[in-house]
Amino acid sequence: MKISKIETFSLLIPDFDIAACSSAQDNIVVKISTDEGLFGFGETDTNPWATKALLDSPGTHAMGRGFNDILIGKDPTNVEGLWHEMNEKTMMTSRRGLGICAMGAIDMALWDLCGKIYNQPVWKLLGGSKKDYVTPYASLLPEGHTLEEYSTSLVKKTKKSQELGFKAAKLEICIKGPYSHNNLQIEDDSEFANMVKLCRKAVGNDMVLMADVAYAWPDWKSALKALEMIKDENLYFIETPLPIEDLEGCSKLAQSTNIRVATGEMLQTRFECFETINKGNVDVIQPDVGRVGGLTEAKRVCDFAEDKGVLVVPHCWKSAIGIAASTHLSATTLSCPYIEFLPKELAESQLRKDLVLEELPLENGKIPLPNKPGLGIKVDEEKLKKYSV
Ligand SMILES: [Mg+2]
Repeated sequence: MKISKIETFSLLIPDFDIAACSSAQDNIVVKISTDEGLFGFGETDTNPWATKALLDSPGTHAMGRGFNDILIGKDPTNVEGLWHEMNEKTMMTSRRGLGICAMGAIDMALWDLCGKIYNQPVWKLLGGSKKDYVTPYASLLPEGHTLEEYSTSLVKKTKKSQELGFKAAKLEICIKGPYSHNNLQIEDDSEFANMVKLCRKAVGNDMVLMADVAYAWPDWKSALKALEMIKDENLYFIETPLPIEDLEGCSKLAQSTNIRVATGEMLQTRFECFETINKGNVDVIQPDVGRVGGLTEAKRVCDFAEDKGVLVVPHCWKSAIGIAASTHLSATTLSCPYIEFLPKELAESQLRKDLVLEELPLENGKIPLPNKPGLGIKVDEEKLKKYSV
């Protein structure tokens, strides 16, 4: 069986908002087909037009080959071999950035395809499962144009996620720093602390709560001062408190607070994740399966993290394709207690709601170990056409 076709779809919702801090408004999806009519899907989280252009580009020399050129005619079941070949032969263009994102989507699609070829779920092909179910946390992005609207929306969504059966939820509190929502900017961190306290009060102590502050603080002591205000709220982790490159600050913060420090959503390849684990001393590493380089690369991060005693909680802001990939990854990894999950009921993006016809089922806040071949989902190909740009 040979790879016969690679199709790429750059997708965008028509009513996207450039000031919103949600990458679920767009997507880049890859479909890989074989000469025997089987196919697999993958997605990644970066600029859709640029990635499509790269994926469709021909190559021009030995260190800058095109993806089609490398993959067409190859055996799709040689996934790790193909990852190595793509990495080696696109070195000049794809060591990081869009190239690794493109490889991530291809790799995800290849694992989906392999599962269909062998008639097995992906977790089995990755080496087997260490659990009966995977626990998603509800990722909650509030709405609003004022602090009060934002806070009210967050509390409402937190309560709603609990009603939907989620055991854990993450509060997106993006009100400070370069990626604040709708240009909201707080001076005083007690506003941040109040939002955490209100959400904790709303759901009680049984629910696991995490917070994401989108690189809010400029240095570790500012972060520590803010975190001191919520030290009694039993937060599971604080996500991206510091600028992404400040690994020294990250290390100092992680050693100074009782709250786990999490980061890694932007990291590419296992090497960047290893560096962040080793130098940043993070408690939780958060590779995005599509962006880090696919399931092949994400699994290597999981193996390393497990050996180092670090937790893995994969980032995921796209569709149920990526959620399925995270689920199979988590199933193989004991130290991956949660995966990020945008609940359809609480997400704004129509793409998140529409793109996949059959998602992995959620039962009482948990995703049972998938048993269908591949990623175990069914993509709505009509929607691929509808949202194409
Ligand atoms: Mg985040």
